[in-house]
Amino acid sequence: MADVVVVGGGAIGCAVACFLRMRPSPPRVTVIERDPSYALASTPRASGGVRRQFSCPENIQLSNFSIPFFADFAEAMAVEGERADINFRQGGYLFVVDGRGTRLLEENAKVQRAHGVRLDLLDRAMLRDRFPSMVVDDLELAVHTPEDAWVDPHSVQQGFRRKARALGAEFLAEEVTAIERDGPLVRRVRFASGGEVPADWVVNAAGAWADTVCAMAGMQSPIRPMRRFEHYFECDTAIEPLPYVKDLDRLAFRPEGRGYTGGKPDSDEPRGFNFEVDHGYFERVVWPALAERFPAFERTKEKSVMAGLYDQNELDGNAIIGPWAECPTFLMAAGFSGHGLMHAPGVGRAIAELIMDGGFRSIDLARLGWDRVARGEPYRERGIL
Ligand SMILES: Cc1cc2nc3c(=O)[nH]c(=O)nc-3n(C[C@H](O)[C@H](O)[C@H](O)COP(=O)(O)OP(=O)(O)OC[C@H]3O[C@@H](n4cnc5c(N)ncnc54)[C@H](O)[C@@H]3O)c2cc1C
Repeated sequence: MADVVVVGGGAIGCAVACFLRMRPSPPRVTVIERDPSYALASTPRASGGVRRQFSCPENIQLSNFSIPFFADFAEAMAVEGERADINFRQGGYLFVVDGRGTRLLEENAKVQRAHGVRLDLLDRAMLRDRFPSMVVDDLELAVHTPEDAWVDPHSVQQGFRRKARALGAEFLAEEVTAIERDGPLVRRVRFASGGEVPADWVVNAAGAWADTVCAMAGMQSPIRPMRRFEHYFECDTAIEPLPYVKDLDRLAFRPEGRGYTGGKPDSDEPRGFNFEVDHGYFERVVWPALAERFPAFERTKEKSVMAGLYDQNELDGNAIIGPWAECPTFLMAAGFSGHGLMHAPGVGRAIAELIMDGGFRSIDLARLGWDRVARGEPYRERGIL
């Protein structure tokens, strides 16, 4: 029986473990997670949006599989009759753009439609009609995808983790410090504690720390940690139900409980493992953008804020999924650049296919593979506003 060692037990690592153990003759699966409280992991800090609005067909296809999977998650990931509720809310997504973004949005919508995505193109008048609280004077176009949704990220991770364990995956609270190779094959994974486990396959699901794990196998990746804040805020004035709204200036937020959660990522944020909260960021950057787009938020106040890390792929903002040519039993599942939670089910299935079937079966993810990185040829995702 093969030994699969998954480094990192966030949403991605747990999904990989689950999909492997769901196979009829599964391999032994050991997930190594150094911090089972997930204090700094990206998954519990995510906003929880799951959407099909992408430019790359692979990302749309991953969402086409993952979103219905999330809709059925509570039942599918139930353990001993206990449901795994993830608070799935099908509130839809709305991308809004001014003249700078119309062509891009139209082109993306074509690709999305070709992949069966239900969407509406809205002009300014239609937008005003549907979302009367939004300032639309500068807007040229919006794409509304009513079947997109949001989920509770922590529950997704815990649901996958519990199911994977119930299916026989082992979880070790250890820090991986070395990966031993024998030429093109991985052989063993060593821990800071001095312990070790044998490995026929190693899956790098270490999120923002993925490059450190790459280095242990002898490779370099373009994945860097990028800090991003997630703010929770409320609104005194009642407004119409909103979808997950994103605009060209990267303002992105959605309803959450009595209020809203979201933020405005800064692509120029210096890279690094920085979890410090800038308590002036909301007031300085997010609030003006919010109040400009929705005057009802004029008097809003930030109620809470968290800093988390994107596992940013500096080459093209897309995940790296699959084998490293020099050592094909070392598999990448990292570099999600802000859209890893939503693709966890699809990526879990894809990695299981690589290991069990010898190649991608459901969705061909070859273009998201390591080769483009080795060649230095970006495969850019242009659907991230
Ligand atoms: C503010 C914010 C908002 C976001 N919003 C969204 C969103 O709306 N939708 C979406 O899809 N994505 C979103 N994301 C991105 C999403 O959070 C990530 O893409 C996703 O959680 C990545 O999951 P992961 O399992 O790869 O990483 P993580 O959850 O970070 O898990 C990696 C794990 O690896 C462990 N690890 C690392 N190194 C080692 C080692 N050497 N040994 C043992 N363990 C190790 C870490 O402890 C960690 O628990 C957001 C991210 C942030 C920060």
